[in-house]
Amino acid sequence: MMMIKGISVLLAVLALAVTTMVGSVTRAWAQDASYACILPNGENVQILANKTLPNVAVARRDSAGRRTIVINPTLMELFQPATRWFWLAHECAHQQLGHTLGNYGPDREQQADCYAAKQMVKNRQMDADDLRAIEEDISQLGGNYKAYLPGPARAFNIDECVVQAVQEIQQSQ
Ligand SMILES: [Zn+2]
Repeated sequence: MMMIKGISVLLAVLALAVTTMVGSVTRAWAQDASYACILPNGENVQILANKTLPNVAVARRDSAGRRTIVINPTLMELFQPATRWFWLAHECAHQQLGHTLGNYGPDREQQADCYAAKQMVKNRQMDADDLRAIEEDISQLGGNYKAYLPGPARAFNIDECVVQAVQEIQQSQ
């Protein structure tokens, strides 16, 4: 994608600390503070691991009604490190955007993808190599008519959102 080259230098500058952050993702699964999902009300979303979860990650409520994220560490391993971060950011986006859990459609999934991509750029959790890895992984995913667009369309949407995030950063400087 042509747009990636144009923003790669800026993204590289934005994200010098990314390598160490990605390296710590496995610890984030054990609720390390290096990955934090903070709701608009300041609440810290608990991240739990469950190896029997059929999905790589889901946004849920716990028995007390608190918003949580559950990940399957085994399925996470199937993806490149940057994509693992992206899944966390995606589930966090569902929670931050206040999506009704368990009732998603392609519009909500695209919203979560876009919000996650923008947050990762703005929080310096994504550089150009990470973006390539995320798009590579996601473009290989199949679609699902009730929830997800086909992988290449999702990857294209993410790319557009990263470009928007970079433009928003430039405009705010
Ligand atoms: Zn989702």
